[in-house]
Amino acid sequence: MNNEQYKGQNILVVFPHPDDEAFAAAGTLARYIEGGAHVTYACLTLGEMGRNMGIPPFANRVTLPAIRKQELLDSVAAIGIQDLRMLGFHDKMVEFEDQQLLDKTLQALLNEIQPKLVITFYPGYSVHPDHDATGRAVIRVISALPAAQRPVVHCVAFSNDHEQAIGKANIIVDVTEVIHKKMSSIQAHRSQFQAEELVGKQELGNQQLLARFGKEPFWIYPLA
Ligand SMILES: [Zn+2]
Repeated sequence: MNNEQYKGQNILVVFPHPDDEAFAAAGTLARYIEGGAHVTYACLTLGEMGRNMGIPPFANRVTLPAIRKQELLDSVAAIGIQDLRMLGFHDKMVEFEDQQLLDKTLQALLNEIQPKLVITFYPGYSVHPDHDATGRAVIRVISALPAAQRPVVHCVAFSNDHEQAIGKANIIVDVTEVIHKKMSSIQAHRSQFQAEELVGKQELGNQQLLARFGKEPFWIYPLA
């Protein structure tokens, strides 16, 4: 991958939860941004229904939304994302949201930003119902655009069966050179880590760290 592939152009990222960006695309986004791309991250919810409250717990049901919002801001800063939109949909409810409202919101964003590239979840192969519903909405809205106006869509997939169904990733981004930014983004989501992961991370050597987090795969969505 060439860092400057999207130099001077806009990239739109659409995920439902704070921390989706950290694991799925932080390194790739950091590389594109270093290469001169402008990234808008539309995060659909604040992850306010999350069960993790930090270890030891420092959040509760009441304080979690504000805490996750701050974590998201910290993560976005670590990656270098220039434009964050918190869209205010409800965590764990994306599949039940008013489809018209969701579509209109995404249409308006696409209209405004005119991205060359959109990054989202691969509908059907992204494990969480919110992930699949988000990907489905993005694909639905982009498919409705005239062919000449459609951005390229790179999807993140990680369900157990995904390779059988959609084959191997089309793009595997090596994020070694920006791994520090990716780890800062992941670690910004303090309330979401399990103790084991946190401890594991501190003990991971550089090689293990890169083996676990050093590559980010994407599938080019076949728009009809
Ligand atoms: Zn998620």
